[in-house]
Amino acid sequence: FKRLPLENKSKDELYEMGNTFNLMMDLLETNFDKQDQFISNASHELKTPLTVIESYANLLKRRGFEQKELANESIEAIHSEAIRMKELTQQLLLLARQGENWNLQLEEVMIEKMTKDSIKAFQNASEHEIEFLVKEKVKTIADKQKLRQLLYIFLDNAHKYSDEKITVVVGRNGEEGYIRIEDRGQGIPKEDLPKVFDRFYRVDKARNRKSGGSGLGLSLAKELAAAIQARITLDSLEGVGTIATIYLPLKKDEAAG
Ligand code: ADP
Repeated sequence: FKRLPLENKSKDELYEMGNTFNLMMDLLETNFDKQDQFISNASHELKTPLTVIESYANLLKRRGFEQKELANESIEAIHSEAIRMKELTQQLLLLARQGENWNLQLEEVMIEKMTKDSIKAFQNASEHEIEFLVKEKVKTIADKQKLRQLLYIFLDNAHKYSDEKITVVVGRNGEEGYIRIEDRGQGIPKEDLPKVFDRFYRVDKARNRKSGGSGLGLSLAKELAAAIQARITLDSLEGVGTIATIYLPLKKDEAAG
């Protein structure tokens, strides 16, 4: 990126134009840097599960036919890494669409019903104990699928970072409806809390198999929330647990009542 040398400090039009041009170059440079960083992080994240898949496939090829146990272990590992790659690519695709038209399908959503259905679907896959409390039944106007994705990110994190029961509460707070997801897990250290919404940020850098996160979930949650005009908050205490809340604007007639 070449900047224009601006020797003449007189505030004439040419100087102003040159100055604007330089500002544009600075902006471009920062954006390119960010994009470079994103691509290199994404490639790195995809490379890790691929390396595991490759080495287990190799093992399977060489010794899998003689040793059944080894074959089972390899297949399990290949399977779970493939799932992780699939989730990661889905998140990357969604993030790549950020800023574009999200193509929202707005409809009336009964928050309590949508949450109940999502919890049921989630439990089919995870079997984590989830307590569901309804304080008040309210409606919002939202893109149901995107709202479900948003809720799923918080349920998934509560599941990954805690072994205890998860509590989900839906209700109303003034002009807003809310969905609160509480876990009693490891919590997030205070100094990490402002950073967990950054792309690829993970508190535990040495990711283990169980949690297996990519660090993309919460950054995607931020984008999704902005797209559907929801507000999200995250409160956490290390060693105690985490509370994520999704606030949704109430449907007009409800907000008045
Ligand atoms: P990941 O895919 O790693 O879970 P996220 O963007 O969803 O990525 O979260 C970023 C980091 O924030 C996680 O790696 C984890 O360290 C921390 N985190 C998020 N949710 C929770 C939670 N409910 N309990 C404890 N830590 C959490």
